[in-house]
Amino acid sequence: MNEILPFTRPSIDEATIADVVAVLRSGWIASGPKVLELERALGEYVGGGRKVRVMTSATGGLEMALKAVGVGPGHEVIVPAMTFAASANVVVRLGARPVFVDVGLRSRNVTAEAIAAAITPRTRAVMPVHFAGLAVDMDPVNALATARGLRVVEDAAHAIGTRYRGRMIGSFGDIACFSFHPNKNMTTIEGGALVYADDRLTLPLDRERFHGISKDAAGNVDVFDAGGKYNLTDVAAAVGIGQLRQLDGFNKARRALVSHYFARLEPRLDADMLPLPGDEGHSWHVFAVLVPLARLRITRDEFIARMRALGIGVGVHYPSLPGMTYYRELGNDPAAYPNAARIGAETVTLPLFPAMTNADVDRVCDALLSVLAD
Ligand SMILES: *Cc1c(COP(=O)(O)O)cnc(C)c1O
Repeated sequence: MNEILPFTRPSIDEATIADVVAVLRSGWIASGPKVLELERALGEYVGGGRKVRVMTSATGGLEMALKAVGVGPGHEVIVPAMTFAASANVVVRLGARPVFVDVGLRSRNVTAEAIAAAITPRTRAVMPVHFAGLAVDMDPVNALATARGLRVVEDAAHAIGTRYRGRMIGSFGDIACFSFHPNKNMTTIEGGALVYADDRLTLPLDRERFHGISKDAAGNVDVFDAGGKYNLTDVAAAVGIGQLRQLDGFNKARRALVSHYFARLEPRLDADMLPLPGDEGHSWHVFAVLVPLARLRITRDEFIARMRALGIGVGVHYPSLPGMTYYRELGNDPAAYPNAARIGAETVTLPLFPAMTNADVDRVCDALLSVLAD
């Protein structure tokens, strides 16, 4: 029996490990020159002359961004019904209300039309999520937000290296937030980055990132706000600098593996079971299919156990967020978001990471097709 193929695994090369060791030996291990170097490198990578701030997580970054644009009690933020919990949790943490909108069944993404229908006088911001690395159709979303005076905070946790109509996510629009959790397309172990256009956000972001501290008019350190503590370490930044060097190669490997998945599965599965293939700009954070569990008369847990018995690790990204206990208790009806409900019930994430081979994809497809045929 082969060892279990996990659904994801980070690739850290020896050069990066050597850089981390050098930082550990340097005597400066918290936020310092490596953080500045990572911010510069991310700015160059994303392009568009953007400001960049890195922090300890995308969750922290999203909360910092919403706070910096003034989201607070009495406000609403429009969030997809199909996303990770963090997208909505940060809205609640600021005393505001997440208003869910449904996503496309195959795109898993929100549209400008769905967002427009959810705007109320209390709406302050919208948070599109580029699900699985497929860009949201952003031009109409940004046009809508400009017309209605709303801020756009893109949850780009899945989308470092994603292009939309040839333009890198983060290089245009209002604010984008990337995640560098180990499951994402590049990692700083834990970490995130905000990339934005408006330099007026820099002061509130820097204060929120580090204790509300900045220099006063006389050049002395002063506290101006009850800020948080979200600064990234130089050790983590050194990991990120090494990962960013390899990111385009990682994403190219992901795309090639996904092409092989499509070649194997498109002839065998209903179109609804497969995600939209997207274009060359898709960064394929995850490859997830919908399994008709009710028709097969098995639970997802049983499906996952059968795949595991065949040596294949499977993830779930994600159950419907309005259907989670906390959001149901806030009064959300998961049935009001039928695509998110169906995706949430049927989705399974198949293995995809840069060090995989086409032979691994074949093993996954053989296992999947055999479980579906049972
Ligand atoms: C991973 C993820 C986050 C949170 O990222 P962290 O860096 O782990 O805080 C937010 N939104 C989405 C859609 C994610 O997948």
